[in-house]
Parts: sequence; C-alpha cells; structure tokens
Amino acid sequence: MPIYEYECTSCGGLVSILVTRHQDPEDLSCEYCGSKDMKRVISPVNFHLPQGDRLSSYTPGKERDEGFYRDSRNIGLRAEQMLKKAGVDPGEAFKAKLDNLRSDPSRILKD
Ligand SMILES: [Zn+2]
Repeated sequence: MPIYEYECTSCGGLVSILVTRHQDPEDLSCEYCGSKDMKRVISPVNFHLPQGDRLSSYTPGKERDEGFYRDSRNIGLRAEQMLKKAGVDPGEAFKAKLDNLRSDPSRILKD
C-alpha cells in the first residue's frame, strides 16, 4: 500500500498517510488544524527545497528518479541554469512563462 504525503493548504502541515483501498483520500483532514483542504505532495524528496536551492542543487547529466520529472517545479531548471552560467538574464517574460508552466504544466499545450 502506498504512503502518500499531503500538505495542508491552510497551515502548511505535512501529513503522511498510508492509503488503503477502503479509505477515500478525499476524506483527509489536517492533523494540526483540522482543515479538509489537503493537497497531495508529488515529490516528497524535493518538495521542501526553495526554488533557489533547487536550481543550485541541480546537476545536469545526473540520473534522476521519476519524482523529479513529475515535479513540475523542476520544469525549465536546466535552461535556467545554463542561462545563469552564461551570465544571460532570461528576462521577466521568460521567468513568468516558467512560473506559469511550473504551477500549471498543462499550459504547455495551451500557450
Ligand atoms: Zn492544517
């Protein structure tokens, strides 16, 4: 049975839950504040890294697990790092586009 991590969108509390077949994950509530507004944490390994650390800890060519590719916050990390290394400012429009993609990866099809 998988263990999922959920983050409370009200207080930011993290809850790990062993999901059984009989349990509806929609029925979760935060054990800290009682809020029902929980969202699934996709990649617990990288989740708590601020974007700056994410960028500096990114190593091109290093083998990554599936979670890395599922985590939309890692979109464009490579491009961002290459530009930074080359001393090129990608500009606000580029950054805004990345932010949009990271928060809603389905936009890649819309934009
Ligand atoms: Zn909470």
